[in-house]
Amino acid sequence: MNEPKKMLSADEALELLLSHARPIDEVERIHTTHALGRVLAEPLVSSVTVPPLDNSAMDGYAVACASQNPGGETRLRVSQRIPAGSVGHALEAGTAARIFTGAPVPPGADAVVMQEDCRVDGEEVIIGAMPKSGANIRRAGEDIAAGSEVLPAGVRIRPQEMGLIASIGLADVPVRRKLRVALFFTGDEIVMPGEPLEAGEIYNSNRYTLLGLLEGMGCRVADYGIVPDSLEATVNVLKQAWHEADLIVTSGGVSVGEEDHVKAAVESLGSLDMWKVAMKPGKPIAHGTVQGTPFIGLPGNPVSAFATFCLFVRPYILRCQGVEKTAPRSYALPAAFEWKKSGPRREFVRARLESQADGGIGIAIYPNQGSGVLTSAVWGEGLAEIHESTTVARGDLVKFTPFSELLG
Ligand code: AMP
Ligand code: MG
Repeated sequence: MNEPKKMLSADEALELLLSHARPIDEVERIHTTHALGRVLAEPLVSSVTVPPLDNSAMDGYAVACASQNPGGETRLRVSQRIPAGSVGHALEAGTAARIFTGAPVPPGADAVVMQEDCRVDGEEVIIGAMPKSGANIRRAGEDIAAGSEVLPAGVRIRPQEMGLIASIGLADVPVRRKLRVALFFTGDEIVMPGEPLEAGEIYNSNRYTLLGLLEGMGCRVADYGIVPDSLEATVNVLKQAWHEADLIVTSGGVSVGEEDHVKAAVESLGSLDMWKVAMKPGKPIAHGTVQGTPFIGLPGNPVSAFATFCLFVRPYILRCQGVEKTAPRSYALPAAFEWKKSGPRREFVRARLESQADGGIGIAIYPNQGSGVLTSAVWGEGLAEIHESTTVARGDLVKFTPFSELLG
């Protein structure tokens, strides 16, 4: 009865999971200072021009290039001083204006000469070589034109977006509400770090990996801890979790053994599909609903839980968060390894980039690719993908996805 029926490719599993993702529709306005990692709910249109005026990119002298002395050095009287934050007046013909970085270039001037290229003689400045018209001037609107869209909806706000939002004067931004994720772990053998380990027990590493993954994505996590391998205990925690969360994520208990109670527990409160995904690490993944709340059950093996989160749950969560771009960026790079045993499951191999003797870069892989060997994920910098029924020779191009594209 607990036998998973479907065998899916990794691509099919991702597509199927994404088809169930529903973006959070509640929007809140928050201070721009708190916007890091949040997802923009509406496009942002600038009401200002950035920079607002033509201004100097240097400390120096604003001049009209036409006042150049064709015979040699140009000597100009300094007729005004314009520090940043003030506005000068139109440049008197045949003079220069002392100017500082960020100060508006006065009408009549069409270049700024760096102070390093000038000599001062009393009230006058001596310019060796007059620059070209436009030199060292930052044009009004060269960054942002008033009325233009600076960010579309669905962008996850990084530090540079925070700065851009501030640069158009917005002290607050409309973002989607944070996704609330309930998390629990099944397995009678699982023990929390800090407690002694009895024979047959292992520490709950998945709690830490998954907490880190979810928090790195800006989710609000409710951690229900370890749930014993019993139907009643699993049902009880699901009853709490479903109405407090937008998504329930678990690890373990989705294989086919009789100690795996997740399927029966979820089905008693909703519905569950068990998927066998033709991938390594991974394979069993469950998707369903508990009283309407989406449920994703990940395999218990630590590397399987990590990899299936990165490959499936992350894009699913991104879509729920309203993020437009869910696909990670990958690169085709030469293998610095051999893969001789082709198999029916796609392999997501923990790998990293290493310099090769010829000066190029190659993908190296961790020697032990066991789904319980978490060290491989720490050693690695990303996942190399080896397709079904494929072998790899040294130098063959292999798809490499850095962890920076799979985490956060
Ligand atoms: P399961 O999916 O429940 O059959 O578990 C598969 C393997 O993953 C078993 O060896 C479990 O002991 C291990 N495992 C399950 N949950 C965790 C966890 N939270 N932390 C570390 N290992 C786990
Ligand atoms: Mg188990």
